[in-house]
Amino acid sequence: MATDSSKKKTRPPIVVVLGHVDHGKSTLLDSIRKANTVAGEAGGITQHVAAYEVVHPYEGEDRRITFIDTPGHAAFQAIRARGASVADIAILVVAADDGVKAQTLEALAAIRDAGIPFIVAINKVDKPNADIARTQNSLSEQGVFLETLGGEVPWAAISAKVGTGVPELLNLILLVAEMHDFSADASVPARGYIIEAHVDQKRGIAATLIVREGSIESGMAVVAGVALAPVRLMENFAGKSIGKATPSMPAVIVGFDSLPEAGAEFVAYTSKKEAELARSKNAEASRTVVKALHAEEGERYFLPVVIRADASGSLEAIAAEVAKLGDEFRGISIIQSGIGDISEGDIKTAIASSAPLVVGFNAKMDATAATLARQHGVAFESFSIIYELTARLQELLKKHAPKHTKERLVGSAKILKVFSSRKNEHLVGGKVRSGKMNVNERISLVRGGERMALGEIASMQSVRKEVQEVGEGGEFGAQVVLSEKPREGDTLECVAIDEI
Ligand code: GDP
Repeated sequence: MATDSSKKKTRPPIVVVLGHVDHGKSTLLDSIRKANTVAGEAGGITQHVAAYEVVHPYEGEDRRITFIDTPGHAAFQAIRARGASVADIAILVVAADDGVKAQTLEALAAIRDAGIPFIVAINKVDKPNADIARTQNSLSEQGVFLETLGGEVPWAAISAKVGTGVPELLNLILLVAEMHDFSADASVPARGYIIEAHVDQKRGIAATLIVREGSIESGMAVVAGVALAPVRLMENFAGKSIGKATPSMPAVIVGFDSLPEAGAEFVAYTSKKEAELARSKNAEASRTVVKALHAEEGERYFLPVVIRADASGSLEAIAAEVAKLGDEFRGISIIQSGIGDISEGDIKTAIASSAPLVVGFNAKMDATAATLARQHGVAFESFSIIYELTARLQELLKKHAPKHTKERLVGSAKILKVFSSRKNEHLVGGKVRSGKMNVNERISLVRGGERMALGEIASMQSVRKEVQEVGEGGEFGAQVVLSEKPREGDTLECVAIDEI
């Protein structure tokens, strides 16, 4: 898009809040929204919003900040999976009574990967067992060196519940934003990201999006993937009708002709014709991707599952996580997915493809579907935390997928002497050249670089004692079972057969 740098103006920062489960992300987002939403807008928010804007006084001026507020920060992850970032700044929430945990590290990796500045919020400082110093230490162990402690990462000690430290945190956000001078040209047609999309029972398909560049105005048309919406019904995050959305603003557009994917980039066009053209180009591109995916699937075992979620943001994030499960031999294939509760059609699909499980993410199953599922032994499980869902799928994958084994070289020895051979049993003497020989593992007889036979060690002696293993440099005598008669000078490799 042609943007004129002289037309670029500072835009509000877009912030994502990340951190370990229960460390207080939602509490923080709720308290900021309640305390700082522009007067008159707060009352308008009756349901959960995927993104919102607040104002905060800074250097004598009211400044705006946009917060992304999607469950599990799905949109952030989905956009990251596409190699982009919708957020300008991340807040890493770490509870002072718990310190750095697994998902803190995951969040940190995502932040570093996105290459965006971040601020640490040490939360729950109101708790009697809060230990700020210990939390700081656990952060520096991960290479996060906080400001005022010799490092460069800005941080605030807060209580999301009580509200202490939250204004200071907002100041820090604005300070970081000022340093980076996030700017955009508002005079061109917008582009940005879809944060969440859902089916509004009364009004049709609605999506929350955030403008990164340019503006969306009434009369334009917005395209995200193959979904298109004429801009007729546009609202701000509080449900108030607006005629224009400017850089960094979250907006809800109602009237998409299909469900846009959370995390997808959108582009606004001044004419419907241009929008249609862009949509058909996107459709062509996505067909190519699907073909590539199928070619890959042929070689792996895929466990089929059906997944329903409450919002496309969650579904996108789940799909991104599920794609990471498994290994070169096996994976999970989402054969059907969608927004809303599990239907009879979902159960039929599961039965037809022998899917053992139908998964709901914050989604229920209707009565007819439940009866059908019971009759056909299709299990239904509901989750509200993505990693619990993926852990369960991983477990099922392990159970259902065909087993694969992989050899691991434990050690290698040279056969110095063959004392006797009777059928498959041989008494040999040898010396370990590398690694170790262990009676519990298998052995491979190698001659001239080729494997002659695979067998095992029945017993082994070293320095006149019965032993389980002999290390590098050690000499041994061993009773081995091999279908090929070993010779002096052959190599005996000790191999572990790992199930993977
Ligand atoms: P999330 O999973 O990171 O979104 O965490 P939540 O915001 O749901 O918080 C998890 C629990 O910690 C809830 O019971 C909150 O009430 C509590 N909590 C969050 N922030 C604070 C805080 O600053 N102080 C105290 N005492 N509790 C908090």
